[in-house]
Amino acid sequence: MHISEIIRSDSPTFSFEFFPPKTAEAAETLYHTIRELESYEPNFVSVTYGAGGSTRDLTHDLVERIQRTTKLEPIPHLTCVCHNEEQIGAILARYARAAIGNILALGGDQPRDLAYDELRDSFQHAIDLVRFIRRFNESGAHPDRRGFGVGVAGFPEGHPATPNRLVEMDYLKAKVDAGADYMVTQLFFDNRDFFDFRERCTLAGIHIPIIAGIMPVTSINGLKRIAELAGGTRFPARLLRALQRCESDPESVRRVGVHFALEQCHDLLDNNVAGIHFYTLNRSDATRIIFDSLGIPRRRKVPAPAV
Ligand SMILES: Cc1cc2nc3c(=O)[nH]c(=O)nc-3n(C[C@H](O)[C@H](O)[C@H](O)COP(=O)(O)OP(=O)(O)OC[C@H]3O[C@@H](n4cnc5c(N)ncnc54)[C@H](O)[C@@H]3O)c2cc1C
Repeated sequence: MHISEIIRSDSPTFSFEFFPPKTAEAAETLYHTIRELESYEPNFVSVTYGAGGSTRDLTHDLVERIQRTTKLEPIPHLTCVCHNEEQIGAILARYARAAIGNILALGGDQPRDLAYDELRDSFQHAIDLVRFIRRFNESGAHPDRRGFGVGVAGFPEGHPATPNRLVEMDYLKAKVDAGADYMVTQLFFDNRDFFDFRERCTLAGIHIPIIAGIMPVTSINGLKRIAELAGGTRFPARLLRALQRCESDPESVRRVGVHFALEQCHDLLDNNVAGIHFYTLNRSDATRIIFDSLGIPRRRKVPAPAV
């Protein structure tokens, strides 16, 4: 289903993010997670995209498998890094053949374990990928005459590569104007950052739905990984204090992290968020606790119109 229909028929949306597993054991964990979360009938699930050939194929395969074997609506992430136009065109054609309805278009994280020369990429920024997907849509190669719905990333606390926050907003506005239908944000732990970002988007003339990215802290190591991977993330003293009190007890750490994320979600819902996107890390337990505690009834699926 095209994202504009998903959002129109059901707001706020709830969605989950998975990454493609690399081992048989991890694949088994993900399979259980997907099955457990399927009953919540999220509006969509998204699948991340890494650098390097083999992990990329895992993303394509997982997206198509979710599409074929579940009732979930999969949205693949697609990145500029390490790709030329021809490769991106082939991926879009493959997703179009599989009737995938939407793509999250991203700049992409630079590969850590591969030699990388960004000058060999056809696209330097996500805006170029958004434009390319729009051109693909106009070619009529997608079974839905509107083509792919297009999502982009937003950074409530700012993206580290653009310290000038006014210029950053100009880039974001240009990316949205290039043809984005919705935005999903980087994770954040202080809702004030999200609300302020949403207001700044409105002031900049950005009016697409902004879906909030939420990641519950489930362990002290997880907290350190977030700090490493989502560079620039601020950890409020209130969260750190609560975690410090129980850092030697993993179960208490998990409860504190889940409770904190639950409070964030309540506050977001009270303030008309367009949607909440859970970074699940391929596990269902924390997301299920939050979902159940929000008191959201299991969702009804709206039948997709014929394309
Ligand atoms: C929801 C979400 C999902 C993600 N999923 C993935 C994933 O699956 N795989 C992955 O590798 N990474 C993923 N990332 C990380 C993301 O790819 C990186 O953080 C990347 O650095 C930024 O992506 P972007 O799409 O915002 O890029 P861009 O829009 O290209 O922005 C990147 C930087 O370039 C600046 N910029 C934009 N336009 C210009 C211009 N014309 N001139 C100069 N500077 C400019 C921006 O201000 C920003 O600082 C995800 C991030 C989010 C928030």
